[in-house]
Amino acid sequence: MSTATIIDGKAFAAKVREQVAAHVAKLKEQGITPGLAVVLVGEDPASKVYVRNKGEQTKASGMASFEHKLPAETSEEDLLALIAKLNSDPSVHGILVQLPLPKHLNSDLVINSIDPAKDVDGFHISNVGLLGTGQKAMVPCTPLGCLMLLRDHLGSLSGLNAVVVGRSNIVGKPMAQLLLADSCTVTIAHSRTKDLPEVCRRADIVVAAVGRPEMVEGDWIKPGATVIDVGINRIERDGKTKLVGDVHFESASKVAGAITPVPGGVGPMTIACLLANTLTACCRANGLAEPEGLTA
Ligand code: NDP
Repeated sequence: MSTATIIDGKAFAAKVREQVAAHVAKLKEQGITPGLAVVLVGEDPASKVYVRNKGEQTKASGMASFEHKLPAETSEEDLLALIAKLNSDPSVHGILVQLPLPKHLNSDLVINSIDPAKDVDGFHISNVGLLGTGQKAMVPCTPLGCLMLLRDHLGSLSGLNAVVVGRSNIVGKPMAQLLLADSCTVTIAHSRTKDLPEVCRRADIVVAAVGRPEMVEGDWIKPGATVIDVGINRIERDGKTKLVGDVHFESASKVAGAITPVPGGVGPMTIACLLANTLTACCRANGLAEPEGLTA
């Protein structure tokens, strides 16, 4: 039986979306409508679903959604020209280029052509540098969502030992920076880490962002620790397709103090934080106070 508190990311994300929508409604009274442009190149089925969800939730929050769907064979020149146009469009406050891009396009070049102030994914090299040096940045959505859940559950994170398993640019590294900024003692683990179970057992907070189904077992967890499972893995079990995280939920939830489920944990927070980032970008662009509790 699970003894851990289940951190309900779905409910928390709904609260974030409500906060965003309330703030957007106030901005609209002042004649300002935050706008998010999403650029999709090609026909990747998963990307199409993500883009559709992002568009729907953007509109539901009262913001303007601009979807740009380009054919897979779009040239780099044309894509950069579109981004330049969006950079200079005052009705667009956030720009998101859906990754992965087709192979002939240089993702780094494309992402770094976005105006950093409109880079709501937080992947532009300027935002990466700002985050790393503790300055005001646009923060990547998934780690921002994890941070919100942790703060909500634990209050102050100061002095806690945090282990982030995974060192990707989109999750692991920015997650570690955010935890460090909240004064955790941070360890970043990866595929070359020696004795990973022992490293995890020292943690008050474990964030798993690995992409390996149910890798983090219950006996890797310190009793009472808070476990954030970023993983989204589709597996076949008992003849059915099932969504599981990077944490073995059944065993970990018997040891942890609190844990995010998959689905319904970190996943819903990512789009909620995209909306929050778009709102933040809009407030900054208009010289207005940023929404409280929706930034790092
Ligand atoms: P990446 O594949 O980019 O990175 C995975 C990381 O895990 C790498 O740093 C890798 O180490 C490390 N790793 C791989 N195998 C092991 C191992 N056996 N032991 C320890 N570390 C290991 O993945 P992402 O960061 O993009 O995504 C991670 C997970 O999060 C995926 O399941 C993804 O689907 C999910 N995800 C969920 C999101 C959400 O909205 N909830 C958003 C983004 C991702 P090394 O660097 O040494 O190779």
